[in-house]
Amino acid sequence: MNSPLLSIENVSKKFGAVVALENVSLHVGAGEFFALLGPSGCGKTTLMRCIAGFESPDSGTIALNGVDLSGVPPFRRPVNMMFQSYALFPHFDVFENIAFGLRRKGETKDAIDARVNELLAMIQLSNYGRRRIEELSGGQKQRVALARALAPRPKMLLLDEPLGALDRKLREETQFQLKEIQRLTQTSFVIVTHDQDEALALADRIAVMRAGRVEQVAGPMEIYDRPATRFVAGFVGETNFIEGRLERNLARNPGAALITEFGRIPCDPGDIAEGAQATLSVRPERIGVAREGEGIVGIVENFVFRGETTLLRVRVAENVVLRAAAGHGERHAIGEAVRLSFPSNAGALHAEEPLG
Ligand code: ATP
Repeated sequence: MNSPLLSIENVSKKFGAVVALENVSLHVGAGEFFALLGPSGCGKTTLMRCIAGFESPDSGTIALNGVDLSGVPPFRRPVNMMFQSYALFPHFDVFENIAFGLRRKGETKDAIDARVNELLAMIQLSNYGRRRIEELSGGQKQRVALARALAPRPKMLLLDEPLGALDRKLREETQFQLKEIQRLTQTSFVIVTHDQDEALALADRIAVMRAGRVEQVAGPMEIYDRPATRFVAGFVGETNFIEGRLERNLARNPGAALITEFGRIPCDPGDIAEGAQATLSVRPERIGVAREGEGIVGIVENFVFRGETTLLRVRVAENVVLRAAAGHGERHAIGEAVRLSFPSNAGALHAEEPLG
């Protein structure tokens, strides 16, 4: 990223004894779609409210285009926020809702008409300008809220759980629309979500937060394939945590293996020491399933059909059950013996850390 649009440096914030943010540093580029992802209470809403100016950090700085925002009130920031509840004005029609920010800025009638019509077309509600808010569906309200927030051309739009109020099917369709509108407007979007699928689907980059701290910032694929911590591996996507002892410097490639009670699993050792206890996080679809050949022997205990794949629960040791995804069309039976194989880069290895 060249010089970032938004720079957050060492921001901390407490509410009484509760640490909501601890030394958070993040950068968001112009035109970037960025997600703050984490479980409830991890501090993502607080961070967004600090960017918008509704909260002030106890320490640290937030700058936009190099200008420190401390002391700048929310309405003077080139940032707009779309609330989860949409907060539309029920007594205004669609047109007037979208025009609201432009009227406050004192724009001319012609400029307002042009901008609102442009946005109505973008959200595919061109003939809905004179509709009352209560006459709209949930998805249409969401789009009107988006258009209202974009109308004054903010440099950055903050979206709090933007799809949270929509049902599952509509959510997926709206993800495409949201991405498309972000691409067309080239506005930086920062969304807050606790839904990992949503973050993976929408964002160019994701910051995964836990207990007021940022655990990893990376693109969706990297977060999924190379989670930096055990927490990230468990929070984003489905995974197997396989415990073992690391054996390094083997004569063969890849030069390391995790020694477990049910066999050796090749892995990339990273900077973890020889002999250390470690956890390998392996996604179910990275484990090969076959009836014969090389591999770790296990017994199919259960399975669920998922369409493209079938997720098997395979017992490989008295106390260890692994989840592995068998490909489309492969049929397996409960009680059947299978061989599980692991490619050398099957997962991410993490040194043992206390669970909590
Ligand atoms: P959620 O997804 O549930 O909204 P979140 O990740 O957005 O969670 P925050 O709302 O930022 O989390 O809250 C972080 C922590 O700070 C929580 O422990 C919360 O209870 C606390 N907190 C947030 N706002 C306040 C406040 N105004 N007064 C006191 N405590 C607060």
